[in-house]
Amino acid sequence: LRPNSDEARDVAYHLHGYTNARAHGDRGPIIVDRGEGIHVFDSNGKRYIEGMAGLWSVALGFDETRLMDAAFAQMEKLPFSHTFSHRTHGPAIDLAEKLISISPVPMSKVFFTNSGSEANDTIVKMIWYRSNALGLHDKKKIISRLGGYHGVTVAAASMTGLPTNHKSFDLPIDGFLHTTSPHYYREGRDAESETEFATRCADDLDAMIQAEGPDTIAAFIAEPVMGAGGVVVPPATYWEKIQAVLAKYDILLIADEVICAFGRTGNMFGSTTFGIKPDIITMSKQLTSSYFPFSAFMMNDRVYEPIADESNNIGVLGHGYTGGGHPVGAAVALENLKIIEERDLVANAAARGNELLAGLAHFEDHPLVGNVRGVGLIAALEVIAPDGRTDDFPVGQLGAKMSAIMLKNGLVSRNMGDALAFCPPLIINSAEVKKILHIVEKSLDELSVAVRP
Ligand code: PLP
Repeated sequence: LRPNSDEARDVAYHLHGYTNARAHGDRGPIIVDRGEGIHVFDSNGKRYIEGMAGLWSVALGFDETRLMDAAFAQMEKLPFSHTFSHRTHGPAIDLAEKLISISPVPMSKVFFTNSGSEANDTIVKMIWYRSNALGLHDKKKIISRLGGYHGVTVAAASMTGLPTNHKSFDLPIDGFLHTTSPHYYREGRDAESETEFATRCADDLDAMIQAEGPDTIAAFIAEPVMGAGGVVVPPATYWEKIQAVLAKYDILLIADEVICAFGRTGNMFGSTTFGIKPDIITMSKQLTSSYFPFSAFMMNDRVYEPIADESNNIGVLGHGYTGGGHPVGAAVALENLKIIEERDLVANAAARGNELLAGLAHFEDHPLVGNVRGVGLIAALEVIAPDGRTDDFPVGQLGAKMSAIMLKNGLVSRNMGDALAFCPPLIINSAEVKKILHIVEKSLDELSVAVRP
């Protein structure tokens, strides 16, 4: 690295998550410098399609001046005020009302936090608090799924079902359990239909609840579509079967919509796409298009009432964040939701998503492609070793290679193992979808050359 270059200074001073701290290569990190529409540019001026919308989040693309204006106007008027102890402010009131009004199921209250992890961590505490309020002191365990991603704070990481987020952190902590992932392509058995697989997932959950004791399980948390676990779209009957098990044992359902909410799956909420009736919904990312760190969750009366019921005599809810419901974030969120509605970006996500998925499906015949899946504007293409040479390519190696080739060709995609994720901004148009497909095709050809023995 050139001495004192930005790359060298980053390597010298900045510890990154999800990055091998010493394996920065000859070029060092990519320095992302500016954005425009669905594109970002690096510090050398190279343009990329941001095929991941940042981290599944920049719904409106990288130059939406209305969001900047909303932030500026709010900063000018009132840059900060908190929401503790009977204080509030206009943007928080408006946003809470707005979220309740667009909720896919009846909800009664919104709680504001700063990140997806923080929202999910808070939900765990709320659920424990609620169980105590109800006198159900043993009903505290939470079930999530292998492959699920719910964040990295201690409780959220414990719910996350990915080894990277547990390894060497002594996680998960006690009381957090992980059931079968609904990843049919990876977990389905020979001759098992998708419907049979969905039944097995629900049976596994039922068996886990029985083994642990139904009275000890407080909640089940899941993403409508698993994101970081590899863009896993569950089988059609999965959610209906899972919800039947939860209802049988009076277990709360949390839909982690940190990725899915606000149009990603072709409906405003992923819960609508899959017929999910959650008691709690987690939201972040596309809520502000990530222009401001912000998150929230909403809960129904089943959750809220015991918490608010003072006759339980458990005291005031001792929980909240300095930045929770930040006026600038709330103002940005309100403008962001307004734009999503005005421009009908939910319908655009559905239409462009169909084009993307249909285009990716054409590559299913390619010898290096094992599976294509998606719903709305979130999709994955899974690469596989050629001619059964699985020993030559440990899991994740081809995915990383394909991701690097696409990056060189001007497309940002994230590889999760061998699954390449596509989750572009919701503002994408048909020509840009075609451009993505063109880069994928070209990159698959280059990958074929690279893996030739
Ligand atoms: N939940 C889901 C479904 C996510 O995808 C993420 C982040 O990718 C989180 C929670 C955690 O959000 P954050 O990174 O803002 O803490």
